[in-house]
Amino acid sequence: MTDPSNPSTDAAARLRAVQADVADACRAAGRDPASVTLIAVSKTFPVDSITPVIAAGQQVFGENRVQEAKTKWPDLLAQHRGVALHLIGPLQSNKAKEAVALFDAIHAVDRPSLCAALAKEITAQQRQPLLFVEVNTGAEAQKAGVLPEDADVFIRACRETYGLAVAGLMCIPPHDEAPAPHFALTAKIAARNGLSLLSMGMSADFKTAIAFGATHVRVGTAIFGVRDGH
Ligand SMILES: *Cc1c(COP(=O)(O)O)cnc(C)c1O
Repeated sequence: MTDPSNPSTDAAARLRAVQADVADACRAAGRDPASVTLIAVSKTFPVDSITPVIAAGQQVFGENRVQEAKTKWPDLLAQHRGVALHLIGPLQSNKAKEAVALFDAIHAVDRPSLCAALAKEITAQQRQPLLFVEVNTGAEAQKAGVLPEDADVFIRACRETYGLAVAGLMCIPPHDEAPAPHFALTAKIAARNGLSLLSMGMSADFKTAIAFGATHVRVGTAIFGVRDGH
């Protein structure tokens, strides 16, 4: 935090700076700023840190854990009708029911068992969250997502076997590599599968991601400040 005595004002000021950076990156790429959705990633931050950011006009938020989101968001969403919540972290199939009930988008669809669980809940609850297939572009063992070479077959299975309306792709490039090739690969896989949405770019690299076509950037630290313990 730049001013620990007034973290709320800081978050609102940082939000405005990020919004300006998103707009600049769009202009530089010849894109309409309205084509990029800024997701404010509020994981690990309490409700008291989130409300000033809602008050500053931010409408889309991201959380990476269903359990944490359930403790923070039902009341906030009831109080702020226009606000949308995205699940950006991995989802266990046994939490699909809670996830479909709470989230407006799910960014880490990556295996058949999860597809089956989501399809069942989408039908049962008559809710249709935006669905992103996560691609593990760096083929990292510890990371979720389908491998790039398996993506086409998996996307077809999502659609044909499970009847899921996949909206786009999501990626998290490896920490220690330049992100651009990972964004380019994700965009290429999306294009050949007729997917228009791209969830890519975090605090450190969202401007690059916008240059490569990101429609959803997931920004935490640059808005809320440094997280403790995560
Ligand atoms: C935490 C997280 C982010 C935000 O990261 P920052 O570097 O704080 O902007 C984005 N995407 C995912 C999947 C995350 O888990």
